[in-house]
Amino acid sequence: MSRSADRAGLQFVGGHWIASTGTGTVAVENPATTEVLTRVCRGTPDDVDAAVAAAAAAAPMWAATALDERIAVVRRAAALLEERAEEIARTVTAEVGTPLEVSRAVQVGRPIQVLRALVDAAPLVRWIEQIDAALVVRGPLGVVAAVTPWNVPLHQSVAKIGAALLAGCTVVHKPSEVAPSSAYALADALAEAGLPAGAHNVITGLGETVGEALACHPGIDGISFTGSTAVGRRIGAVAAQNITRVALELGGKGPSIVLRGADVAAAAVATAARCFTNSGQICAALSRLIVPREELAVAEQALSAHVGRQRLGDPLDPATTLGPLVSGAQRARVRTLIEAAVGDGARVVAGGPDAIVPETGYFVAPTVLSDVHPAMPIARTEVFGPVLCVLPYETEDEAVEIADDSEYGLVGAVFGADDEHAAMVASRLRLGMVGVNGGRLDVRAPFGGHRRSGIGREFGVHGIEEFLETTTMNFAAADRIVRPAV
Ligand code: NAD
Repeated sequence: MSRSADRAGLQFVGGHWIASTGTGTVAVENPATTEVLTRVCRGTPDDVDAAVAAAAAAAPMWAATALDERIAVVRRAAALLEERAEEIARTVTAEVGTPLEVSRAVQVGRPIQVLRALVDAAPLVRWIEQIDAALVVRGPLGVVAAVTPWNVPLHQSVAKIGAALLAGCTVVHKPSEVAPSSAYALADALAEAGLPAGAHNVITGLGETVGEALACHPGIDGISFTGSTAVGRRIGAVAAQNITRVALELGGKGPSIVLRGADVAAAAVATAARCFTNSGQICAALSRLIVPREELAVAEQALSAHVGRQRLGDPLDPATTLGPLVSGAQRARVRTLIEAAVGDGARVVAGGPDAIVPETGYFVAPTVLSDVHPAMPIARTEVFGPVLCVLPYETEDEAVEIADDSEYGLVGAVFGADDEHAAMVASRLRLGMVGVNGGRLDVRAPFGGHRRSGIGREFGVHGIEEFLETTTMNFAAADRIVRPAV
């Protein structure tokens, strides 16, 4: 990113790149080489105060800006991001380790699609609704904090910030300190697109200082968070002090059920592909393959062949299919989980603790574990690494039971011989999103989870609605209603 080096020591407040009130920095590492790429400000609560004040000052003007103009600004920002797509893809690859080819599609292409889908959705929001003599008017929530993780950094940022701005809210963004640079590109794109100063602010730093200061700030009207369930729980508790509205996109432990009669090998490979994307560092990963017991061998053979086709290595090499994990800490955590699973009786079909990986960088081999029992920690914990568990079942009811036996409920899949049967099973699952016979996520349809996977929805109309507040105007009679402008 040509400008990111200049931004790295600065915060974006009120339309200006300014020095932090603190002096500390956070190193941003390349997980493939372990080199330090850059350093960003270790922001302070005073930085947060300044950004919230700037966002509050900009809020009335941006809320009063016509919807068409808000749409035009966000649409221009999407085009500007597209112009810098290659540069952003390379930056995210350097910070996260995503193979460049995947980065182009998932780290940049998809976020631009998400942003454009939000633009298309904005006119479809029910801004005003009439119920007899009552007019239900929906307007911006106010000043919003967006707190985002490192794994798909631009995607998570635009899903929140694009929706909030289209709703008429102003934003303070706290990107992940692990992969912050795409947040600078987004700030540049929005400013260049004509977003008024103060409507979007960026404060970098650590979660426990900057994130926490945002979550408990009385000037924040809503907080939209994507990240771990543990931090989501903490944010919910802190935000409750001010009755701040909270939207949480948290973890997952995606089940993929293969019904009797389905093409087991094809379903297993499709599941593994969705498990290993970004080295498994995707909340929507399908990490539990649930197969009829008598089909276990077929599934294992297909998975073993699939793992054999993977290439670990330099994310910039076009032959690479899997890059490193994001950090040494993440690698140590994933390795420990794999070793514990083997100790618990899981059988290594591919990869595993002894698999050879590149020496430099935080690599973990794609791993398939079979004979996994639903009670084992590996079947219950979100690994956030390239680890697929295979769990056998006897009856269809048992398959559904295993799939739902999780604190999470984000995403899943069902593969069956016919769509109708697969859809019937899919409808029994307590999941926010479920793919039927290979159906993929649609960036216009709501994204979010049940249970500990979160609260609220992103994408499209539903995503914008997260950032709206409702006022009911009661008129003397239906024929005396006066409609405000949107
Ligand atoms: P994380 O929860 O550690 O951090 C996420 C963000 O929260 C970061 O910006 C971090 O600095 C900040 N933060 C940390 N502590 C905080 C605190 N006390 N108060 C406020 N903010 C704080 O998550 P991560 O390691 O960056 O990302 C991985 C996790 O994110 C995984 O568990 C994954 O499942 C989840 N995730 C969920 C989704 C989804 O849409 N459901 C998408 C991607 C990632």
